[in-house]
Amino acid sequence: MTVKAYGAHAGDQPLEALHIERRTPGAQDVQIRIAYCGVCHSDIHQVRSEWAGTLYPCVPGHEIVGEVAAVGADVTEFKPGDLVGVGCIVDSCQHCVDCGMGLENYCNHMVGTYNGPTADAPGHTLGGYSQSIVVHQRYVLRVSHPPEQLAAVAPLLCAGITTYSPLRHWRVGPGHKVGVVGIGGLGHMGIKLAHAMGAHVVAFTTSESKRDAARALGAAEVVVSRNADEMAAHAQSLDFILNTVAAPHDLDPFFHLLKRDGTMTLVGAPSTPHPSPGVFGLIMKRRSLAGSLIGGIPETQEMLDFCAEHGIVADIELIKAEEINDAYERMLRGDVAYRFVIDNATI
Ligand code: NAP
Ligand code: ZN
Repeated sequence: MTVKAYGAHAGDQPLEALHIERRTPGAQDVQIRIAYCGVCHSDIHQVRSEWAGTLYPCVPGHEIVGEVAAVGADVTEFKPGDLVGVGCIVDSCQHCVDCGMGLENYCNHMVGTYNGPTADAPGHTLGGYSQSIVVHQRYVLRVSHPPEQLAAVAPLLCAGITTYSPLRHWRVGPGHKVGVVGIGGLGHMGIKLAHAMGAHVVAFTTSESKRDAARALGAAEVVVSRNADEMAAHAQSLDFILNTVAAPHDLDPFFHLLKRDGTMTLVGAPSTPHPSPGVFGLIMKRRSLAGSLIGGIPETQEMLDFCAEHGIVADIELIKAEEINDAYERMLRGDVAYRFVIDNATI
């Protein structure tokens, strides 16, 4: 089936309207009419070839929500009309140890929702800036939020799970003091989720203008990280730091804020490395530096259900598809509160 989409033909070209092909649903497939798609900073990194290996045409988008349009003969969990989501993963080997544990995100053969290998034309996956998508049922999530919240649910499929998974893995909860660094799409979800898990959240931002907004999201305290005195007030006090910053920056000032045995987990994926941290910030208090990649399918469902139960959605600005290039520029200027979501009816 030919459908309309938005994508780019090269890293230095703007996104434009395109036509793409979607496969006829197979026995295990769910065909989804996409209602909304969130705009992740990874979309910018990928479509502009800031990471290695972008294939063109590139149609980004991995924060997909919509309605089931059709299902294959062997699909048992979904039926036409259901509200569903698709995140960053549309396939994996399905038999390795990681897939067996529901950690498809760490499968060596994980197929991303865009730029991943596929038998479908043109040989790589094409994402959610499009009218519809066909996905194996294993990688489709159920949305139980009220339908009127659907647009604001979209960012949970990447920004939500990417922050939820490390918060759970490092067992964040009541009695913990948790830092969230970088208050963008991921960071604002990190604040909401850590707060809902019962932690005392400290937001770290480079933007003075986000001070009040970060409190409204659930942060108990806000630190403008360029201000050394404000940073010093939190020395050796944090159990865990989630760092979502999309650009290389000095990690050392944040290590000094961790308690003994504290961990800072990086989820931001800048195209060039952070300066190497000094050893002493780590060895003096047996601190750890870690990383985390999105989350597996069962945990993504758990996160969606947790958010529905706690009334959590993203703070969004809905845009028309033709506004996407401008939205990218605004994201790079930090001018978004906190996630752009495309109204796919405008494609
Ligand atoms: P975003 O909305 O653009 O937010 C990034 C935030 O980082 C900004 O709002 C800003 O926060 C801070 N920041 C940006 N440039 C900075 C600089 N030069 N110095 C210091 N702080 C800066 O991006 P996002 O969609 O949240 O994505 C964040 C990063 O996570 C991206 O690199 C993305 O590719 C990556 N990502 C990783 C995963 C994963 O699985 N690990 C999944 C999704 C995305 P303040 O204004 O508060 O300082
Ligand atoms: Zn993403």
